Amino acid sequence: METESHSTAATSTPTAQELTQQFIAHTYGRFPLTLVRGHGSLAYDDAGREYIDLGTGIAVNGFGMSDPQWVNAVYEQLTTIAHTSNLYYTNPPAQLAQLLCERTGMAKVFFANSGAEANEAAIKVARKYAADRFGIGADGLPARYTILTLEESFHGRTLSTLAATGQEHYHELFQPLTPGFTHVSPASGIAGVAAAHAARPLAGVLIELIQGEGGIHVLDAQYVQELARWCGENDVLLMVDEVQTGNGRTGELYAFQRFGLHPDVVTTAKGIGGGLPLSAALLAHSVHTVLGPGDHATTFGANPAICAGALNVLNRIDSDLLAGVRAREAYIRSELEGASGITGVSGMGLMLGVSTVKPASDVVAACQAAGVLVLTAKEKVRLLPALNIPMDLLTRAIETLKDVCAL
Ligand SMILES: *Cc1c(COP(=O)(O)O)cnc(C)c1O
Repeated sequence: METESHSTAATSTPTAQELTQQFIAHTYGRFPLTLVRGHGSLAYDDAGREYIDLGTGIAVNGFGMSDPQWVNAVYEQLTTIAHTSNLYYTNPPAQLAQLLCERTGMAKVFFANSGAEANEAAIKVARKYAADRFGIGADGLPARYTILTLEESFHGRTLSTLAATGQEHYHELFQPLTPGFTHVSPASGIAGVAAAHAARPLAGVLIELIQGEGGIHVLDAQYVQELARWCGENDVLLMVDEVQTGNGRTGELYAFQRFGLHPDVVTTAKGIGGGLPLSAALLAHSVHTVLGPGDHATTFGANPAICAGALNVLNRIDSDLLAGVRAREAYIRSELEGASGITGVSGMGLMLGVSTVKPASDVVAACQAAGVLVLTAKEKVRLLPALNIPMDLLTRAIETLKDVCAL
């Protein structure tokens, strides 16, 4: 492909990599790869090389890159009315909230812009719920305000969601973090949760059903059931962080539906916007009146153009699409389980962690050199392909991954 010849001829123009090095804060470890366009599950770099994308911008582009239907939905709304603020009513967020509630059994939605912000909303709901219900303690603080999360969890990068994140190495440089969080290992069972509650009364429990950044670790279904029952019995809110697991990723619309749960709060982000920033805290009937006017807000929350795109995405995550996700999971597992150099596959749906004998970062680099984009999660290779990735592309990519991993 030689379409870039005139731009590469201008030798003095700095490259994206040079400009980024000079002018963007060095908060990301980047691959030496500049992507210039993408269509569905194919991406192209600045030299015209083609890649099969199994990363979807970290579980964001559920229907692939620049999906035409999603682009049209966003474009139509962009050229109709793009932003109004939440001081006025607009159609797309109203319709999106209705659809989300109908498909989840939740009562109301608070829209924000990132996963961390959706979790901030959940934390505020839990604190206010507990304060309304249990009042002020002898020390002048609310009788219950602590949020319990799990070790190895990831809930975001704001100071409060960092405090919620159960991985010490994220905390070290930023003390003091927001107080009022405690962490337990799922291995300590319900006794561990009860002990934490006895030490510092809990307002809520926040969990990922599949720990994503923690290494694609699926929580034990029986532990989750017992935790849900314990929360109900102790009037502690059950909150599920579906920022990564949501929006069809696990083969259900939301993973809590696969686990048969009725959480009080579900947060989601990444895939819901289809490639633009949108997040949501879904509120069950138990908590939908907790936040009132003035209690919480965000300027960009529920942007009409982004919500129009999300409505298109959500409408297409139907039973056929979800069956396709599960069929692709079955195909990937049948290819990878027992393959040379591969010691296991964890996860659900199209959120999979592959344990490899070779270091995961070496596998990622070798796949990239061979034209396939994959990610890591801790020591595993992480696969997050588009929910509708064409089977021929998936087959080619999995063959490449197998070749790279083979001993
Ligand atoms: C990515 C992620 C977040 C943070 O989302 P941002 O949009 O980066 O703020 C929170 N929780 C989970 C489970 C995630 O995977």
